[in-house]
Amino acid sequence: MDKSVKLYVVVPCYNEEAVLPETSKRMLELFGSMTEEGLISSKSRIVFVDDGSLDGTWDIISTLAHEHREISGIKLAHNAGHQNALYGGLMTVKDECDCAVSIDADLQDDINVIPEMVRNFKNGYDVVYGVRNKRETDTFFKRTTAVAFYKLMNFMGVKIVFNHADFRLMSKRALDALADFPERNLFLRGMVPLVGFKSTSVYYDRAERFAGESKYPLKKMLSFAFDGITSFSISPIRMISTLGAVVCVFAFAMAVYALVEKLLGNTGAGWASLMMSIWFIGGVQLLAVGLIGEYIGKLYKEVKRRPRYIIEAYVNEEDDSDV
Ligand code: UDP
Ligand code: MG
Repeated sequence: MDKSVKLYVVVPCYNEEAVLPETSKRMLELFGSMTEEGLISSKSRIVFVDDGSLDGTWDIISTLAHEHREISGIKLAHNAGHQNALYGGLMTVKDECDCAVSIDADLQDDINVIPEMVRNFKNGYDVVYGVRNKRETDTFFKRTTAVAFYKLMNFMGVKIVFNHADFRLMSKRALDALADFPERNLFLRGMVPLVGFKSTSVYYDRAERFAGESKYPLKKMLSFAFDGITSFSISPIRMISTLGAVVCVFAFAMAVYALVEKLLGNTGAGWASLMMSIWFIGGVQLLAVGLIGEYIGKLYKEVKRRPRYIIEAYVNEEDDSDV
């Protein structure tokens, strides 16, 4: 397969008027050189998704789209949030393209690795993760919290790629598979590894936001992290059950201790029985909550209706569909 690839780059934008002129300029240059090289087809596109911006973002996007054949725009009716905007963009373009790259508007992720992503796609990879080498440009706070977050996610059994955010290439069939995940709480960097297919990573240094300010203040970041955990893991529920079991064991120890103290005559009236019931009731309650949680966890998994399996290939099928 050596024909050039029809690439769509999807860029979610929320109040990004400060960065768009520069971002589009750099991307157009990159598109120019990739087309010249024959890496991507001239039908490739840069798609800006305006996520309900309140500033001049949409005006800039429409002007750019009129000036450049390679640029198109999608405007969401309200601020749906980064993940939804990104997903909306990807789902809109998936039937047009061979593969799509998602990237933030502020170009903190290095667009110069996009050609490498496309080459990997040509070599048969369906998903290419952009992974940050170092995060020196992020604040100390953002760096440590991010590392802690990845560790915590792993601990909870969620498969995510370390130091990878939402800069990635996905093939059309990977996007089709992603479309089979009907869940509403999107945490794309957790969902894409679930899609499977052959994947690899490319590495880059993360730059600073060159204009405008972060649209992810601490509050949004924390709720995003919390969303990620609760959308992918029921281990917080399991922890309640474990805690319940531990407290029950403690209750036994407490009971023995309280009895001994009572027999030795060291206690006031009612102390031993109070002590025993507090611990016992506490433990039983936690266990019960954990048990109910198990059922809620099951319900939660059912409600998400994720695909049970995704087929990667057929061999020796009756019909001659391409595989
Ligand atoms: N973004 C969006 N909708 C939102 C918030 C952010 O589409 O509600 C976009 C934003 O325009 C940018 C990307 O998501 O392209 C990442 O945001 P940002 O760079 O502010 O996050 P940070 O890099 O600080 O984590
Ligand atoms: Mg950014």
